[in-house]
Amino acid sequence: MSKFITLANAGVQQLQPYQPGKPISELERELGISHSIKLASNENPLGPSEKVNDVINAALPELALYPDGNGFALKQALAAHLNVEMESITLGNGSEEILRMLVQAFVNQDNETLFSQYAFAVYAIATQMVGAKANIVPASQWGNDLTAMLAAITPKTRLIFIANPNNPTGTWVGEQALRAFLDHVPKDVFVALDEAYYEYAVNTSDYPDTLGWLKDYPNLIILRTFSKAYGLAGLRVGYGISHPEVADILNRVRPAFNTNQLAQAAATVALQDQDHIARAVATNEKGMQQLMGACDDLGLGYIPSKGNFLTVDMGQAAAPIYDAMLREGVILRPLANYGLPNHLRITVGLPDENARCIEALGTVCQ
Ligand SMILES: *Cc1c(COP(=O)(O)O)cnc(C)c1O
Repeated sequence: MSKFITLANAGVQQLQPYQPGKPISELERELGISHSIKLASNENPLGPSEKVNDVINAALPELALYPDGNGFALKQALAAHLNVEMESITLGNGSEEILRMLVQAFVNQDNETLFSQYAFAVYAIATQMVGAKANIVPASQWGNDLTAMLAAITPKTRLIFIANPNNPTGTWVGEQALRAFLDHVPKDVFVALDEAYYEYAVNTSDYPDTLGWLKDYPNLIILRTFSKAYGLAGLRVGYGISHPEVADILNRVRPAFNTNQLAQAAATVALQDQDHIARAVATNEKGMQQLMGACDDLGLGYIPSKGNFLTVDMGQAAAPIYDAMLREGVILRPLANYGLPNHLRITVGLPDENARCIEALGTVCQ
């Protein structure tokens, strides 16, 4: 055994890799089955807008060239769509990369990040990577307890992560509570508001419209992504909207060509097809009802969700159920590494995918 681990940076020595949802190809290779479905990574079951096909084909002849490192066209389209300045936008190889850039730019081993129990795993990983301390605040009803989080801020707190809606629990915080929270956060503490599921939640009556808040809270960074409702998870593109000075700092740590040519082109046209987003949201709402109804029928509890996933309480250790579902050809997401050993997270699929998942759950949970 080599001892290379002793040569790794202090934070990296303790790091555990991110555990993604199991890919379909891996399951089918391992079990020798076919026609399995994946409801494990909150992807859009409709796929991307059809308009994406043409722009990808049109971009193919240019693949020998580096992409535009500044992502001008996509930033311009985003600025128009969101009604913000281009200077406040940062593009990332997925919004995960922007989460990591924020930590790289602002957090070190002498200070702390703060986030809720049951938060997105990347917050802890990015914090650990730089050897900083993660101050993890107990959740309230599976979600961010903003009052407790405010009380947990210390002079060492540099960056707070809040996912709204939250993954893996689907909980959300409303406008008033979030504003009251931001009013009390010190101005030299950054708040990364992770809105990966924004498109699914935005029609909720008290869901905050945070873009308009940036002028009031220059320490706020809003993160969104093309991976979920836009159906482009495989291309890896997300973005941050922040004070232009924060965007300038992120731009200094950003890898030079972090969003690729196909991703930029696809995201730019996907943004123009808002009908597709409306279809995705409608499909999700129907599927969510379908899954919740089935859980009620099966006597399974679940956490009400504003995302495109439902986190279900199996009422027993979920690992054997996860395994049995795999053998039925249905990939769900186990959450033991999130401290939720009895829960499984189900991504809302197409009606027939949901039905297949429900039928398999019925068999497996007998
Ligand atoms: C899926 C997800 C992301 C981002 O994913 P990218 O594909 O990197 O854009 C970020 N935050 C949360 C909470 C998510 O669930």
